[in-house]
Amino acid sequence: MTISMFPVNFIIMQTHKFLILAIAISSSLFCHSQNELDTLLLGEMRVMYSKDHLADATFVGQLCYGANDYFKETIEPLDVPFQLMVLSQNDWPHYSAPGLIYGMPHYKGDGKTLAVAAEDNDFWRMQLPDPASIPSPYKELIPVVYNLNGEISARYFFDLLAVHELGHAWHFAANLNTQRRWLSELYCNIMLHTYIAEEKAEFLGALETIPAYWAGIDAGDLKYTTLKQFEEDYWTLGVENPFNYGWYQFRFHHAAKLLYDEAGAELNKRLWDFLKNHTDKLSDEELISLLEKEVHPFLAELVRNW
Ligand SMILES: [Zn+2]
Repeated sequence: MTISMFPVNFIIMQTHKFLILAIAISSSLFCHSQNELDTLLLGEMRVMYSKDHLADATFVGQLCYGANDYFKETIEPLDVPFQLMVLSQNDWPHYSAPGLIYGMPHYKGDGKTLAVAAEDNDFWRMQLPDPASIPSPYKELIPVVYNLNGEISARYFFDLLAVHELGHAWHFAANLNTQRRWLSELYCNIMLHTYIAEEKAEFLGALETIPAYWAGIDAGDLKYTTLKQFEEDYWTLGVENPFNYGWYQFRFHHAAKLLYDEAGAELNKRLWDFLKNHTDKLSDEELISLLEKEVHPFLAELVRNW
């Protein structure tokens, strides 16, 4: 499978607002009038949502609320400012950051409001490989794992990514020095994977299958493949090579799965403590050696053998 099979705006995933703005793609839906959003309160967490999308808002809201509680119990009792907007395609242009394609999760200007799609959309569909053109076991798995009312839908994967973004909010609220961009992204996927595996195992198949497929493709045609390149060419990568950026994100998802399988849920807390304890920037050698000693040898091995 060559990289040319990736969709042009492959980026999405859980990119950050800065990168997203740089690669903004017009969604061209400015002809609808603005509707008021309804509000759902889950404890302290506010979920604003488009009319007729209470069920979608409740799903994503409860997922984030549950993840937040889980992190409070297993990491530390931190108050993390975070609220959600769950938007229909019609409301998206009025409430999302300007010009973003429908379905791309992103933080709004206040830095604590995550905007996500309430409806299935082309952007998600583009992330799913065509089962007819891929090998087993994905050829068979994808239609089953992502079956929604008889159709294949990536929403089972994308709805979960709100927890990755919640992870960034946690890092920000604790003022963590995440040391490297790749470690920040990997850690958000570790937080997501740990929560789903521990508390929402029914969604594990959806969380693991697309990343396992994309992480395993032949990377020979990719311009960027190393963690050093991800670090040094982060902006160019996101702006000029969004599908290449997407490949890294799927690799981070898959790495988070392997780490969880090897090291268990405790890894999440150990990595948190590690980052809290090392506020100064570490050299590459120090970072890997300390990750090995203080977090888990398999994490250091994954980094070394990336
Ligand atoms: Zn991220």
